[in-house]
Amino acid sequence: MSDASVLVKQLEAMRDNTQRLSKMAASGSISYAEAGKRVSQYGQSAGRTILSFLKENFPDGIAEDDALELIPPALRVNYKYAVNLATSAQEQVNKKARIKLKALSPDFNEEKAVNMAKHIADTGITDDVVKLVQANARSVVDSTIAVNANAHENAGLSVRVIRKYDGVGVHYGRDACEWCLERQGEWEHVADAQADGAFERHPGCGCEIIYQTTRLQWQSQSRGSNWTNISIEEARQRRRS
Ligand SMILES: [Zn+2]
Repeated sequence: MSDASVLVKQLEAMRDNTQRLSKMAASGSISYAEAGKRVSQYGQSAGRTILSFLKENFPDGIAEDDALELIPPALRVNYKYAVNLATSAQEQVNKKARIKLKALSPDFNEEKAVNMAKHIADTGITDDVVKLVQANARSVVDSTIAVNANAHENAGLSVRVIRKYDGVGVHYGRDACEWCLERQGEWEHVADAQADGAFERHPGCGCEIIYQTTRLQWQSQSRGSNWTNISIEEARQRRRS
């Protein structure tokens, strides 16, 4: 067995176990917020598994060829876990808005995986691997939002992408993250959300990105939602309290 298949087997065992446990606890429906949280947790465990595998097998650092052989298949396992949960969350969004469209799933992002492999070969095997793997898994949830919001917008539905600053992950216990505070908000056009960086994350970013859609007759009701941008000062206050 190649190194890659050993690592993939480890991750698959962990994924299946996590899925079994969450099925036992699941009530059937899952929100994007919940999917994001679970994927984040899973991504952290997967990141630790990958990190210890790399440390054990490549104590003197990893060559680019080896990293390219290992990292993309490993991330593909995480992708499958994340895309399942995110697609379920999207199904809930569609159901709530009574939209008879199939929830779409984004493809596995091979380019991101290749870039991460090169980055790890370049910078060496450090604890950052955990955050990188976690952010990569979380980006699957974000991409699911983007791909569905785009389709809905093209179909003439009213969409809403929301990014909320959350004092978790590397934000926790530190000064407010101005990079993330700049990216929070609510958007009614996916292209605007993308242009404002709503789907961008730094490693360890715990911001919540969620998606809602409404059929047009509901639009007036959903306008003027009570969520607004909070200032950097407010974010600091929240952390103190
Ligand atoms: Zn941040």
